[in-house]
Amino acid sequence: MSDYRINTKCVQSGYRPGNGEPRQVPIIQSTTFKYDTGEEMGKLFDLEAPGYFYTRLQNPTNDYVAAKIADMEGGTAGMLTSSGQAANFFALFNICESGSHIVSSSAIYGGTFNLISVTMAKMGITVTFVSPDCSEEELDAAFQENTRAVFGETIANPALTVLDIEKFAKAAHKHGVPLIVDNTFPTPVHCRPIEWGADIVTHSTTKYMDGHGAGVGGAIVDSGKFDWMAHADKFPGLTTPDESYHGITYAEKFGLGGAFITKCTAQLMRDFGSIQSPQNAFLLNMGLESLHVRMPRHVENAQAVAEYLQAHPKVSSVTYSGLPGDKYYEIAQKYMPDGGCGVVCFELKGGREAAGKFMNSLRLAAIETHVADARTCCLNPATTTHRQLSEEQLEAAGVPAGLVRMSCGLEDKDDLIDDIRQALEQI
Ligand SMILES: *Cc1c(COP(=O)(O)O)cnc(C)c1O
Repeated sequence: MSDYRINTKCVQSGYRPGNGEPRQVPIIQSTTFKYDTGEEMGKLFDLEAPGYFYTRLQNPTNDYVAAKIADMEGGTAGMLTSSGQAANFFALFNICESGSHIVSSSAIYGGTFNLISVTMAKMGITVTFVSPDCSEEELDAAFQENTRAVFGETIANPALTVLDIEKFAKAAHKHGVPLIVDNTFPTPVHCRPIEWGADIVTHSTTKYMDGHGAGVGGAIVDSGKFDWMAHADKFPGLTTPDESYHGITYAEKFGLGGAFITKCTAQLMRDFGSIQSPQNAFLLNMGLESLHVRMPRHVENAQAVAEYLQAHPKVSSVTYSGLPGDKYYEIAQKYMPDGGCGVVCFELKGGREAAGKFMNSLRLAAIETHVADARTCCLNPATTTHRQLSEEQLEAAGVPAGLVRMSCGLEDKDDLIDDIRQALEQI
């Protein structure tokens, strides 16, 4: 499918039925698969033949949907995981081990920040966080002898900073390591990081890809461009024999296009089992079929809401990279000329109290710990996700008490603005 445009890929990539086969992606609701001879099954266990044997590692429904996402991102191979958290952990841990080091943008999702800085630290993996706005020299200085990956988010959740993908890719490649980009917020409809130099792309499919708040999930896509063999000493897991599979070497046997995802499936999925259920993969595919229709509407609504808020006297600031004058407007125009995502952050002049009154007065927009689905929702970090922080700590973390994160859904934008207007009047 790789010659088609993104809109066509959203609808048709991945599953291509043969004559007389089901038109819709079949849900292979089976934990296991049957073979006629032990020899045939043995070949699967040696990675000598492709095929399925147990859904903890791989399932055909998942693979159809992963192939679609890989095609949408312009990659060579993909896999689904049980969540976005699992996707980011697997993408990093597939090339890191105890003693490795990661360079990461500091503007990333809170769950990923915790994963890298606390949980992976317990595994002996260290990290240096850099501002996404750092200079090339500052970025360069963050690397160490044992650095194995660079990580960032195209549009960070919830900071809404935009990653200069080319700057981060250049630094990563100069130091012989891949750039991993979490592309959850713009989705490949609005940005394809591989086209700008990223090597691995991850997703929380829980967000826009599913798009309806129906299923938690994640995905990993490999560009097939990073030459593991050229940096063989850094990535022994890919470039030396795996004794648990009779001594195959992933980078040799599966080439640039297949090594990363095959190793990630054969080792990490085997040992951690963070597989997406085939039922959720089916729901995800339904979401993907309309992603290219939904994303422009999310952006249209968010743009209108951001412009309305910017002009409102009770609002002190609005963060949305589609607003001319936003710190990330120019860079967003470069990487996402058709718009980014539907999430807008704004600060109310009355602080925590005003934010609470405003949110409780909304009729359409619900208060939720979620973003990026069809229904508009909002959150005040100071009273929820960041409620353990003091006023001073909140300011320092860039989440002032009056900050509201609003995820604009697919409703009529005039109804959303009417709702916001009446809620602001209550303050
Ligand atoms: C939500 C989110 C995650 C985590 O995904 P889950 O599916 O909730 O595990 C990772 N990265 C970003 C950018 C997210 O928004």
